[in-house]
Amino acid sequence: MKCIYCGGEMQRTKSTYTIDRDGYHLFIKDVPAYVCSQCGEKHFQESEVAVIQQLIRDLEKNLERVHVSG
Ligand SMILES: [Zn+2]
Repeated sequence: MKCIYCGGEMQRTKSTYTIDRDGYHLFIKDVPAYVCSQCGEKHFQESEVAVIQQLIRDLEKNLERVHVSG
């Protein structure tokens, strides 16, 4: 697998998936990914992304019930 940005070799490894949302940031560690050995570009597999997106949906459902004051 080649990097779409620099053409470098993508290596199968694990990386941290980060999500920036209004009001919070999520860091999910050890997600299987391909990382470019040249530029560091990350590519996550669709199956992994689907799992993470489901996780976020569940989380946001729960967040609606949490009220933070201050
Ligand atoms: Zn690259």
